[in-house]
Amino acid sequence: MVTKTERKIATGAWSDRYRDKWKWDKVTWGSHSVDCYPGGCPFRVYVKDGKIMREEQGGQLPVIQPGVPDMNPMGCQKGASWCHIHTSPDRILHPLKRAGERGEGKWEQVSWDQAFTDIADAMLDAIQDQGPESIINLMTPEPGAGPARMFSTALGTPTTDGNSEFQDFSPGFYITWGKFNPVSSMDDWFLAELTLIWHANPVYTNIHWYHSVAESRYNGGEVITVAPDYSPSAIHADYHVPVRIGTDAAFALSMCKVIIDAGLYDKKFVQEQTDLPLLIRKDNLRFLRGSDVSEGDRDDQFFWIDARARVLAPAPRGTLATADVEPALEGSIMVTLKDGSQVEVMPAFERLKEKLQDYEPEAAAKIC
Ligand code: SF4
Repeated sequence: MVTKTERKIATGAWSDRYRDKWKWDKVTWGSHSVDCYPGGCPFRVYVKDGKIMREEQGGQLPVIQPGVPDMNPMGCQKGASWCHIHTSPDRILHPLKRAGERGEGKWEQVSWDQAFTDIADAMLDAIQDQGPESIINLMTPEPGAGPARMFSTALGTPTTDGNSEFQDFSPGFYITWGKFNPVSSMDDWFLAELTLIWHANPVYTNIHWYHSVAESRYNGGEVITVAPDYSPSAIHADYHVPVRIGTDAAFALSMCKVIIDAGLYDKKFVQEQTDLPLLIRKDNLRFLRGSDVSEGDRDDQFFWIDARARVLAPAPRGTLATADVEPALEGSIMVTLKDGSQVEVMPAFERLKEKLQDYEPEAAAKIC
């Protein structure tokens, strides 16, 4: 039998408020392309009285490759709370002009006309006084900033490098591979035999994709986190390598030494995909260039040793493919320079081995 108190609780105003919280007019699809890049997590968007009241991860993404888990759930807490920013009292809805000293936090509301005029006047003054380079367009990733980027290009003002600002993709990938990301998609992480988390904390910063790293451990993969602190990503790794801040280069060099000494490197990969076969002059430790060898030759022509014939051979400039040449990684030869003098040259790999002599694991351990 339901008691009076129970009936009161079940029909009380507080429970109505709770029930109202979970009522909506419609549910649509949405995403965010502003908090992250590329983002695009599929979200169910709950709308009430014309306002978004709640967002929730969609969880609808299909399996792409049999045996590889789907990408669900994609999303992060920033995305899940994004709709609250729309109606937050902190959201700025009109132009504000600084009314005190910089940093004092004093602002006054001005009209859009005044804001545009003030900004345009300041830009014109800057261009007249110091040229368009004196104005900087801060690169931001959202599609809505496209027109600003075009305006900046038309004016001839520099745009900052987004990689160094929001850092949702790693410039090292781009510089090394020429690609935004060298994997097909993040679910590929599942297939990794070994994942090195280094200079990163994806449990915090790559929330929508991190689960593929965690799942790779159920596929036989191992995860190593190199971080000075016992970070959230360290907690979920098989191994945590706690290097001292700023010393992980020593750790990496000792890893290189062990890999090279034990012959564990992929020789074909090193020959084709790195600059380690390119020749370095022993007299000045700089790359041997076409302009060193022949009058009128290019500055950006590099060389390697054809390991079969033991002769100097120009490295191809338009491709990384080694074709029918076997670039030597070790040894040295004498080369005649354009002034008739002779210089000994060696592959950069030899130089690397020399440098690695200082990084026996025991020596590196003392540093890091
Ligand atoms: S990562 Fe977060 S902010 Fe970015 S699209 Fe996904 S849920 Fe939205």
